[in-house]
Amino acid sequence: MTISTFFIEETLNTSFSNHAENVEFDHISIDSRSLQNSATTLFFCLKGQNHDAHEFIASLIFKGVSYFIVEYIPAEFEDKAHFCVVQDSAKALQKMATAYKKAFSIETIGVTGSNGKTIVKEWLNFLLSPDYAIVRSPKSYNSQVGVPLSIFGINEKHNLGIFEAGISEKGEMDALATIIQPNIGVFTHLGTAHDEGFQNTEQKLIEKLKLFKNCKVVILEKNDFVEKHLNCSSFTWSFENKNADVVVLSKEKKEQKTHITLKYQNNSFSIWIPFTEESAVENSLTCIASMLYLGIIPEVIGSRISQLYAVEIRLQAKKGINNCLLIDDSFSSDYQSLKIALDFLDQQKLHQKKTIILSDIFQSGLDPKQLYTNVIKALQNSKIDRIIAIGETISAQLKDLPNVFCFPSTLVFLQQFNTQSFQNETILVKGARNFHFEEIIVLLEEKKHETKLEINLDALTANLNYYKSKLKPETKIMVMVKAFGYGSGGYEIAKHLEHLKVAYLGVAFADEGIELRKAGITLPIMVLNPENSSFNAIIAYNLEPEIYSLNGLKSFLELAKQKNLHQYPIHIKIDTGMHRLGFNTAEIEPLIQLIHQNNLVQVKSIFSHLAASDDVNEKAFTLKQIELFSDAYTIITSAIQYKPTRHILNTSGIFNYAEYQFEMVRLGIGIYGFGNSEEEYKQLENVSTLKSIISQIRSIDAGESISYNRKFIAPKKMNIATIPVGYADGIRRAWGNEKGYVLINQQKATIVGTICMDMLIVDVTNIDCQENDEVIVFGTQPSIVEMAKVIGTIPYEIITGISQRVPRVFYKN
Ligand SMILES: *Cc1c(COP(=O)(O)O)cnc(C)c1O
Repeated sequence: MTISTFFIEETLNTSFSNHAENVEFDHISIDSRSLQNSATTLFFCLKGQNHDAHEFIASLIFKGVSYFIVEYIPAEFEDKAHFCVVQDSAKALQKMATAYKKAFSIETIGVTGSNGKTIVKEWLNFLLSPDYAIVRSPKSYNSQVGVPLSIFGINEKHNLGIFEAGISEKGEMDALATIIQPNIGVFTHLGTAHDEGFQNTEQKLIEKLKLFKNCKVVILEKNDFVEKHLNCSSFTWSFENKNADVVVLSKEKKEQKTHITLKYQNNSFSIWIPFTEESAVENSLTCIASMLYLGIIPEVIGSRISQLYAVEIRLQAKKGINNCLLIDDSFSSDYQSLKIALDFLDQQKLHQKKTIILSDIFQSGLDPKQLYTNVIKALQNSKIDRIIAIGETISAQLKDLPNVFCFPSTLVFLQQFNTQSFQNETILVKGARNFHFEEIIVLLEEKKHETKLEINLDALTANLNYYKSKLKPETKIMVMVKAFGYGSGGYEIAKHLEHLKVAYLGVAFADEGIELRKAGITLPIMVLNPENSSFNAIIAYNLEPEIYSLNGLKSFLELAKQKNLHQYPIHIKIDTGMHRLGFNTAEIEPLIQLIHQNNLVQVKSIFSHLAASDDVNEKAFTLKQIELFSDAYTIITSAIQYKPTRHILNTSGIFNYAEYQFEMVRLGIGIYGFGNSEEEYKQLENVSTLKSIISQIRSIDAGESISYNRKFIAPKKMNIATIPVGYADGIRRAWGNEKGYVLINQQKATIVGTICMDMLIVDVTNIDCQENDEVIVFGTQPSIVEMAKVIGTIPYEIITGISQRVPRVFYKN
């Protein structure tokens, strides 16, 4: 059964304008914004209270739609599309749905009641899906428009329909009953919802029960008042009435579950319901009664009921990790609800980039080829940037699309999960229940209550650009990512720098370089402090050693010979006054002897390090260092006959001595947002913000003391807040005892008393705040530069000392 112009013309007894041959549609739409609108859409222009879809005909024609059901034809479009004029578009939609439903003689359950309609419908779908090919209303499509749209989801393969009906006014249910044509009724609950449209409870009840006018049976909780108004038989359950078909003999709550014993046809059996709330137990009983009515045996019912789950009725956008927006639709995977979810996804305008994580799709009633052809079309209409397909069937069908990543199972996806692959995008997570996508949601959802170091990668970019602006365009930049990217994150920062196309990365130890290689970083990496014992690993991971002594050079050459290396890249460090590592003047000659005409290695660069580039009072010393470096370079290169890259400037060197940039510079602290002078610091953007929350607020009286050793005595009655961050996280004790502060709701809260290992306490007497409010421990204010000054150290020491137990969270816009 397809919806065609022929079917429509016959049903509505009118005809389309400018139209000759029969055309078939695969999508019925009433929403001008829907991404599914296309050349194969039939569009109903409905008129609402503050909305008239006729106004969007132009944009719909632009999207390719050319068949419309309208109440009038706007003059300017007369010959631009095919119009079928009706008196009332909504009525026409219902009439078509009625005719469509008539073409299928399937068992049909109609669900209504004041509460629990959607939950019962979803649960029945889950509970009965092993036995039937089910079509059901997507989400809570239960209105005068929602019901007809649900009906068009039926196809030849389905043998059970479950549709819910909701009304808000007298007269509405008749229309819905005519469309749904249920033969089994399920009545969930008679409550007080939507009372406004009705005179009294009885009138409302009578109206609702109209859904069941042609049913053979209605399943419900035993209720004589309701049953009196039914004109068919009933199948009932009850807690106390022994005349019910299914009687609850006992009910007991145990650890988040409810254990019930039931009596049915002289048998008694027990079932665990995985909920304790009264309404969930009642809805479960309605489902159990429905299954018994359909002849399912108690053991099977028990096992299926034990797997029931909480239904998320409405689609919601939640805050995700790395500034993502997350749409959690992890409990349903049918094609109808996929289309709804895709439209919801499109309405979220926060990010351009869209990702969908999608499982195998069940219950379509279609064969996989046909189904996934439709799915692919829907995904393409929705302009999804990235499709993560999880499941054997969907993987097989989608694997040839350009933007698809396939995983055979949720487990495999979880094993390979990397938080960094989700950034600044909207993610729709949609999967069948047995794929357990809730485990994916847990990883993608932002956890509110935790201490974290937020790293703004845009600020990092801006800082890099600032230093670039001080350099010639051709000067190469090595960015130092030692010590876990100065505490800001090793791999993530390196990945970002690779993206920004810096020339080199620098690390302190071989292990740091190996980590980056394992994470997939391919930029050249220089290792500043390679121990002889790490040379093997350095070669294995294609890292480039700094060679700073004759001893080290000899060992490396020996290994190079063993391994038959050819022109392996090395970097020669000259000591020009730092007196830390490097060849001194006297060692230059023997150095030349070893590398001259030696093809095992190639000197990639020759460099030195300034001891006081940040101190302009030491300018003479710095210039002397640079001179010594240049001399050494001249001597070495005239011997080896080629010209390695030269570099001597670190961050402050770039700031103060840019004229000595040579061919490369080594940028460190500056890119992380810290300058060594006020002037330099002003040019930079803040990269790292340490955020936490208020664990507890309490009030203390004058004279009470706070924290270890009673260093603070309250001078008056005070409110104080405890923050779960301490010196073990890297917040130094010297910052406590009223020297330092945090920011709460933009206000300074002084740290009172001694900073503990895992906590500190602040004065919030004059701050409007609550438990769980966000706390800025450092960032733009208080800045690490400010902190360093107060406690007598340098920003390097604080930022690299932030403990690894503080999670790093990266974002960019
Ligand atoms: C750490 C380091 C740098 C970077 O110094 P900053 O002051 O952070 O820019 C440059 N060169 C060497 C040898 C280093 O060890």
